[in-house]
Amino acid sequence: MLLGAPNSGKGTQAGRLAARLGVPTISTGEMLRGAVADGAELGRKVKDVMEAGRLVDDGLMAEVVGSRLERDDARRGFLLDGYPRTLGQAKDFERMLGDLREKLDAVVLLEVPAETLVQRALGRGRTDDREEVARERLRVYRQATEPLVDYYRKCGLLRAVDGDQPVAAVTERILAALNGAGAA
Ligand code: AMP
Repeated sequence: MLLGAPNSGKGTQAGRLAARLGVPTISTGEMLRGAVADGAELGRKVKDVMEAGRLVDDGLMAEVVGSRLERDDARRGFLLDGYPRTLGQAKDFERMLGDLREKLDAVVLLEVPAETLVQRALGRGRTDDREEVARERLRVYRQATEPLVDYYRKCGLLRAVDGDQPVAAVTERILAALNGAGAA
């Protein structure tokens, strides 16, 4: 699982890591943007929340992730990008993994300074990337998602990685951290 603020590089790293590790990436942000673009019922439900930089509710996210985990390609492992994002989602996710008789191997935290995060957001041009929304996304991260850092640190799963480095260097550091080079 990749954990980090909006624009910490989770999506970029997830793509690179999935290729290296030979597992699919499950990116909830991508899935939701896809549903919005398709005009799917799910997309209609989440569009406004996404554009405001807020979080989709835990119950709906559990449905989205639960049905994704049932697909065959998730049988031999997967990388999660953008889920869970609240303590409630972390509990939902544990239940799902328990039902599938799987377990979480590691949680990689990408650490990036706040101003770098906002600068990256402004350079990217997504509809939820206007400065005001970027700041809201960061506020929501601090309030709802950051508690997961302590939660996973206490379970011994957290691996903190400096995300304020060139893309390729971050990938190598994550792979090293996953190979057991010291828990955070
Ligand atoms: P992301 O690309 O991961 O930053 O996700 C884009 C947007 O999708 C977020 O700002 C939320 O509105 C929504 N979203 C993605 N994943 C979740 C999640 N796990 N829980 C709630 N909302 C989510």
